[in-house]
This record gives sequence, C-alpha cells and structure tokens, in this order.
Amino acid sequence: MRTLTLHSNNLDRAWAEIHLANLGHNVKVLRNLLPHGCELMAVVKANAYGHGDVKIARYLNRIGVFSFAVATIEEGIRLRTYGIKGNILILGYTDPHRLPELVRYRLSQTVVDYKHAKQLNASEQPISVHIKIDTGMHRLGESCNNTAEIESIFQCRNLRVCGIYTHLYVADSTQEDDIAFTKEQLSDFYTLLEHLKQHRIKLPKMHIQSSYGILNYPELQCSYARIGIALYGVLSSPSNRTKIQPELRPVLSLKSRVVLIRQIVAGECVGYGRAFSASRNTRIAVLSIGYADGVPRSLSCGKGEVLIHGCRAPIIGRICMDQLMIDITDIHNVKRGDIATLLGEGGSEVITAEEVAAASETIANELLSRLGSRLERVYL
Ligand SMILES: *Cc1c(COP(=O)(O)O)cnc(C)c1O
Repeated sequence: MRTLTLHSNNLDRAWAEIHLANLGHNVKVLRNLLPHGCELMAVVKANAYGHGDVKIARYLNRIGVFSFAVATIEEGIRLRTYGIKGNILILGYTDPHRLPELVRYRLSQTVVDYKHAKQLNASEQPISVHIKIDTGMHRLGESCNNTAEIESIFQCRNLRVCGIYTHLYVADSTQEDDIAFTKEQLSDFYTLLEHLKQHRIKLPKMHIQSSYGILNYPELQCSYARIGIALYGVLSSPSNRTKIQPELRPVLSLKSRVVLIRQIVAGECVGYGRAFSASRNTRIAVLSIGYADGVPRSLSCGKGEVLIHGCRAPIIGRICMDQLMIDITDIHNVKRGDIATLLGEGGSEVITAEEVAAASETIANELLSRLGSRLERVYL
C-alpha cells in the first residue's frame, strides 16, 4: 500500500482515494445484517465499481472474504491472475468455447438458460456452475416455470451445480405493488426449489439478494448475498429509503487540483459554446479533471459543485474532456495546486456519490463504474 505524498506525480492532476478501512467497516456492518449461515459474496465487477478490482479483492481476501462475483470471464481471469483466492462466480453469459479457461482459472459460470447448460455440458471437462432462474426480470435465467428443463440441468454430467439463484429487481422500492411483486418472485422461486426437492434433487447453495435485497428484506434465508454498491458505502439514489439503514461509509473520494486562476469581467464567457456568461466580475478556477475521467458532462452549467477550502463552488460552463471550470469569486485565497473534492469530504462539507448521481440523472452505480482508467487510484 502506498501512502499519500502530496507531491507525487500521480496526484498532480486527478485521482481517486480509496479508503480501505471504510471497506472493512462496511463488510463488518453488512455481515452483521446477514441471516445465520449466509455468506457475503462481494460483487467486484466493472473494476469493483470503479474502485480497482484487484486491490479491492486482495483487501477482501485479507479480511476473510472468499466469495466474489464478476460480470465477465475477463474480470474473473484477471482476479485469478493476480492471485485472488476463493470462489469467483461469473454473473454474465460466457460463450461455451471459453470453457477451457473456466476450468483453468477455476471460475464458476452462471447458466443463463437450459440451452446454455447443454452447450457447457457438451465438452468433456467438468465445470462449476450456478443456475440462474428468471422470476420476472426477463434478463438472464431459465424461466422458473420450466421445471423439467431445470431438473435436467442437474442431470448434466459435466456440470457441478454449486448454486441456484434469482434476482430481485424491484427490491429497492418500498411501494406496495413492488413489494407484492417481490413476494411473488420469492414465492415462484421457493416453489421451484420445493419441486426440485420433491424430485430428489439435492439443493445447492441458493442466493437471491443484492444490496437492496439485504436492506429491505433482511429476513430472507439464503446461502449467499451478492452485495455490490453497499459494499462501497453508497446507495444508488438519495431518494431510496430502506427498511434498515446501517451506517455505511463511502470508500471512494474523487479529487483534482486547481491549475489556473483568472479574473473575468461581467459579460465575458467561459468554456465551449459560451455556455457561461458572467453576470458580475468573476474569479474562476480551472480544475484538471473532465468527462474523460468520469465526471458526467451533464453536471455542466451549475448542475454540479465541488468542494474547495471546505466551500461549495459551482461548476460553470460546459465540462471539457480534461478540464472543468468553477466559480470561486466568494472563496478566498484559492491558489494553483489547491485540492478540489468532487466526491467526498472537504472541511465540514461533503459531496456524496448519491447526490452527484441524482444531479446528473443517473444512479451512483453508473457514476462510480464509469470513473476513468486515467485516474490514479490511491489506496489509504
Ligand atoms: C451487479 C449485480 C449484483 C450487485 O448489485 P448491487 O445492487 O450493486 O448490490 C447482484 N446480482 C447481480 C445478478 C448483479 O448483476
């Protein structure tokens, strides 16, 4: 682990600070919420939601997390190549021609439907799989109504069925009709499991919930909880009210530096499209971070703010690929090299990922997972 030295070249421009102790805290808090016998499956897809997959998974290994989920085979191979231990489940589709790599890297594959199972089984190499069951989302999974097909997946000689799972896709909602829908999904899933049991199939591990499932339906029995966004100390949206509200701590802060300060007079413009026109004499600062680093361009023209010297400064004009401008007229003593915080704490103020995501009309999951590869990640 590297310590933060202020004059490191990597911290001249724009970077993300990853607070591993906060990740440890979140793991502890979330594990305490899980029902007895339920294991945390850490979802580290999309570069661990922008936090850096290998560093995050390595830290999780160190604190005793040995179950991971990724979206793609590449993500799984990468974790294994860097020595990550434990089970790694690929949540997405993998083409059967890549089966030798599933074996070589000891990855568990999601069976996305009956046909996929048959194709994976056709090779003579045994692999570990989890069967995905569609209970209404209509994304991946064999339909819960096709019990004969699902039974026959269990009979496939080369498939070691280690898990069966479904996905609650409105578990974030506390609206009555959504709760009723979730209950229907659960009932369909349990009915299927009961049917399999009656046909003398030994049930593998089962899992149902992701972050919102755990926060809104903490009572559900299962062998794993697939937790992504909550692990990083964030929820998708600030308007989400969950049944339980554990004290989670954001893991990531996003920072940049002031590289230039200038004074403009009333009537002058700033940035592409002359989108900002000064209504008064204005002091502006240029920050060396832009949309190529993952700052949503939709935060342009005052929709977004940054923290500088503990004060909020509005983003003015259009966000550029590599820079953005802020209004610092009312903030004193700002100078070149000062740090601006786009996500995280600055002084007594804080800008949350939920807040920024909402301002740019998305969810924190998208905001974080789109943070650019150009950003240095600093692990604290
Ligand atoms: C991404 C994903 C998760 C994790 O979801 P969060 O809401 O981030 O906790 C869980 N299950 C599946 C199938 C996923 O694709």
